[in-house]
Amino acid sequence: MIELINEIWQLKREIVSDDYDHALYRLAEEVPMTIHEYPTGTSVWTWTVPEKWTCHEVYLETLDGERLIDYVDHPLHVVSYSLPFEGEISREELFEHLHVHPHLPDAIPFVFKYYQRDWGLCCTQELKDSLTDEKYRVVIRTSFDEGTLKVGEVVVPGQREECFVLAAHLCHPHMVNDDLTGVVVGLDVAKALLEGPKPKYTYRILFLPETIGSVSYLSHNEDLIPNMVGGLFLEMLGNDAPLALQQSFQPKSPTDKALVAFFKDINSENHVGPYRSIIDNDERQFNSPGVRVPMLSLSRVENPASPDSRFQPYPEYHSSHDTPEIVTQARLEIARDTVLAMIRANDSRTYVVNKFKGEVFASGAGIWVDYRVNPEGHRRLFQIMERCDGQSTVADIALELDIPFEAVAEIVAQLEEKDLVYFSDVPVVTDPHKST
Ligand SMILES: [Zn+2]
Repeated sequence: MIELINEIWQLKREIVSDDYDHALYRLAEEVPMTIHEYPTGTSVWTWTVPEKWTCHEVYLETLDGERLIDYVDHPLHVVSYSLPFEGEISREELFEHLHVHPHLPDAIPFVFKYYQRDWGLCCTQELKDSLTDEKYRVVIRTSFDEGTLKVGEVVVPGQREECFVLAAHLCHPHMVNDDLTGVVVGLDVAKALLEGPKPKYTYRILFLPETIGSVSYLSHNEDLIPNMVGGLFLEMLGNDAPLALQQSFQPKSPTDKALVAFFKDINSENHVGPYRSIIDNDERQFNSPGVRVPMLSLSRVENPASPDSRFQPYPEYHSSHDTPEIVTQARLEIARDTVLAMIRANDSRTYVVNKFKGEVFASGAGIWVDYRVNPEGHRRLFQIMERCDGQSTVADIALELDIPFEAVAEIVAQLEEKDLVYFSDVPVVTDPHKST
C-alpha cells in the first residue's frame, strides 16, 4: 500500500484532470476495474459535472522580478480551480486572494474553489508575513476545458445481487492521508475479496472524486440503489490515531448494528460516533434523501474526547504537510484487516431463531455454566438464550447486552450445534402472540 502511495501521491489529482486520470489508470492495473465517464456539463441530479482544470504556470513576484511563489515548487500554491489572472496589484488586493493555513505557519494550505470561482494563491504564513512591498505581480495561467469525470468501480460478485459499497476519494493534489490512504486500503480489500470465498453480498468498491463523483455515479445507477444494503466510506486511515467509525444516518440499520458491534471488539481505543459527528464526506451522498443507503465511515480522525487529541481531523489536514511521512504501512494494514473483519461480520449477518420453547434445560443439553465457578458466564448464557427469538441478530444481542460480538457468536454456535437454534436471513416470528 505504501509503495503505491509513493508512486502516485505527487500527481495533481484535481477532480477532473489528466493527473487524476493517470492515478485511476494506475489503480486499474492492480484489479479488474470498470471506469465510468461523465462528460463536463452532464447534469447529475442537482449538480453539473465541472470542466477539466489544468494549471500551466503560476507565480507571484516582486516588481523587480524576484520570484516569491512558484507552482513548480509546490502545486498547492494555487487554489484548485482558480480562474486565470495576470496583473500588478496592491498588497491589500493580493491579501484578499492569498490563503494561509490556520494553524501551521510553515505549511501551504489546500484551498479549492470548484464552484464559487475566483482566482487565488496559497503560501505559508511565514512567507505572507514577509510581504511588505506595496505592489506585486501575479501570474496565474489556468485553463478550463471539456473533459470527463471518472469513477473507477471494482465489482466482486457475491451470491446475491444485493450489494455493499466501499468508497474512497482519489482527488486532492499532492496529499496522502486525505485520501490516498482510503484508496489503497479499499484496493487491498478489493483484492482480498476477489481471492474468495465468494461473499454473500456483491461488493462494489468505488474510487472517485469527492462529492461530485458519488453524485455522478449514483445518479447514473439509480437502478442499483434499492439493492444497496449498506456501505462504508474509507478515509484518513494512515495517521497516528486510533480508528473511528461513524454511524450512518440510520443508526438502527442492520448494517450499522453489524459493523458497530464487531468494531467495538477490535480495539478498546477505537471510538464510534453518530452520523456527521466525526467527519463529513461522500457518505453524505449515499445517506441523503432519495438514496438512503446506510453508509458508515471509517477513519483515523482524532477523538475530540481523547486527552491526546490535537487538531481535528488530524494536524496536517489539507496542507502541504500531508505527505507519506505521516502514514505507516502498519496502520494501513490494521485498517484493511478491520474493514475485512467488519464486512465479513456483516456478510454473515443472520437472525438467531429458537427451535426450543421455554427456558432451555441447559444441563440436559450439556451447556450449563456453573454459576459458582463462573457467575458472569452463567448469566450471559441465559441472557443470550432469552434473546434467541428470531427477531435478533448476533450483533443486535451483542449491542443490547454490551458484550463482545465474538462472545455471542460463540454461544449461538454452540446452541446451533445442540440443535437448539437455526439461522435465518430474515426475521422469523416464534412468539405465538404475533402473526407470521
Ligand atoms: Zn479533503
